[in-house]
Amino acid sequence: LPLLLFCFLFATGDADYRDPRQPLDARVRDLMSRMTLDEKIGQMTQIAKEVASPQIIKKHHIGSILITPGGEPAIHASAEAWMDMADSFQEGSLSTRLGIPLIIGVDALHGHNNAYNATIFPHNVGLGATRDPQLVQRIGAATALEVRATGITYTFAPCIAVCRDPRWGRCYESYSEDPKIVQEMTEIIPGLQGYLPAEYQKNFPYVNGSGKVAACAKHFVGDGGTTDGIDEYNTVIDWDGLKSIHMPAYVDSIRKGVATIMISYSSWNGKKMHTNYDLITGYLKNELKFNGFVISDSEGLDRITTPPRANYTYSVEAAINAGIDMVGECENLIIVSQDFMHGADLLQVMVPYTYIEFINELTSLVTKGAVSMSRIDDAVERILRVKLIMGLFEQPLSDRKMVKHLGSQEHRRIAREAVRKSLVLLKNGKDASKPLLPLPKSARRVLVAGSHANDIGRQCGGWTMDWQGQSGNITAGTSILSGVRDVVDQETEVVYIENPEKAIVASSNFSFAIVVVGEEPYTEYEGDSKDLRLSEACYSAISDVCGAVECVVVVVSGRPIVMEPFVDEMDALVAAWLPGSEGGGVADVLFGDYGFSGKLPRTWFRRVEQLPMNEGDAHYDPLFGFGFGLTTMPSHGAGVAAE
Ligand code: BGC
Repeated sequence: LPLLLFCFLFATGDADYRDPRQPLDARVRDLMSRMTLDEKIGQMTQIAKEVASPQIIKKHHIGSILITPGGEPAIHASAEAWMDMADSFQEGSLSTRLGIPLIIGVDALHGHNNAYNATIFPHNVGLGATRDPQLVQRIGAATALEVRATGITYTFAPCIAVCRDPRWGRCYESYSEDPKIVQEMTEIIPGLQGYLPAEYQKNFPYVNGSGKVAACAKHFVGDGGTTDGIDEYNTVIDWDGLKSIHMPAYVDSIRKGVATIMISYSSWNGKKMHTNYDLITGYLKNELKFNGFVISDSEGLDRITTPPRANYTYSVEAAINAGIDMVGECENLIIVSQDFMHGADLLQVMVPYTYIEFINELTSLVTKGAVSMSRIDDAVERILRVKLIMGLFEQPLSDRKMVKHLGSQEHRRIAREAVRKSLVLLKNGKDASKPLLPLPKSARRVLVAGSHANDIGRQCGGWTMDWQGQSGNITAGTSILSGVRDVVDQETEVVYIENPEKAIVASSNFSFAIVVVGEEPYTEYEGDSKDLRLSEACYSAISDVCGAVECVVVVVSGRPIVMEPFVDEMDALVAAWLPGSEGGGVADVLFGDYGFSGKLPRTWFRRVEQLPMNEGDAHYDPLFGFGFGLTTMPSHGAGVAAE
């Protein structure tokens, strides 16, 4: 065999790309030398799961699949069913001439949030409040294991946006308004991918190993700085501002070896980021020496023009020449859902044409010379390098032994720790010398009230089991209410009234009340808000309960919301952000098993008219300033054992 191998290597004049002992660069070079233009353009194409089949993947040499959020078959499917789906896609690519494996991506943004029973961690805004990059790295490692437990190898995370205006519907995907905190939280990248030394692209046959996934820093760049916080809009800022606020986390992500970077739908000073050669090629690739691949946002090319797809030839040319290496095309208007999980007949799928159009457009642009062959080669080399570094050529199929990691107790413990550390105590006692928290576990009767006390879906927010999220028992976990029931003494009566009335509360002899209110789940532009108000029912719950009994208000929200007019009525106020599936962690801290330690990752405004308002602004006059957070000590004898 060694002799045969030697002869083979000799015959091809270089290393064989299939030989993992060869240096990375030699493998890339060898593989590139064997590829046709069609095969190269196929690698640059990412299609959605709804339009993918082994036959289509093989026919177009597709390089990547996007598992779109929510819906069947993703949710309610077992880890094994996910693996079957991933493997069947992979078999399509392995049966091509060169057998280049797919990289399959999913939005695992706070845990593997499209997979039923996965551990759902707090959204990034809550992690920003922990100020604990090591914890965030552990969350990355746990998330990677859960994603691999479903046969997926790539997550479109972390979002390293620096949200400068909470009216933005994606503000909860941002760790902080402060670029330094976002920078520190890029520690999630080595958690997801494994530790990548500086010489990342050199001689690393297996950087990731079987329990790791490729990460994606997004959305490059300035997504969190758009005017009035309007999603996908225009960020007006000079170069120095862009570089000092929105760019630092990219510098760190690249230093930590992030495999991919996603381009923002938004514009910078009127120019669509998807066409910005100076920033993508000039700055990201040449100046910052980013060596992974650049991916478009999903259907990002379509949105270069208004109306979308008005001049698709131009859009493809501008985006690829700007330096985008992989293009996500997943138009689903004419998709007939293809149900892999439930064994539907693959051949009945209607094939939408947008990715075929992309392939055709790019092919003709190359033939015409409008896109150079060296640009195509740069893109494909980057994609292949990531796939080779990840060990996908050696281990393209899922590893069934990983299934045990999905929603494991160990991961839920990490999530609960994150919930505890993310809580920010904003007020404690009408008179600060008489703090209400920590609450006594031995109270006789405790009222728990409000729409968000017993709702795992609302705790999780958007990007959970569905693109927009949902309310209700959408997946496994503990609600805040169940956490309270678990933590109090056995003799303590816990009464839950979702919509309390003042008279009932006043006449019921409660020792104190916990009012849990918040935002309804939302995602992306659907969450853009002009007034940042909770529902009237939420504000009434606060006034009715706090007017009748001592109360702590817990706000479940992706961002600061209007609170100033109500603060005087309440005895204590806690920002819980979007804690995810392990909401019981809120009770651990309310009742003193652990102390409050979280710090505001964002400025808490008084009135929306002040926005945008970030620390350091001349007009800075917050209700609670950036970094604010009261602390409590754990109650006697508690806490230590459970950590
Ligand atoms: C979002 C991205 C996401 C992509 C794929 C887009 O709408 O902007 O953040 O990764 O969808 O689901």
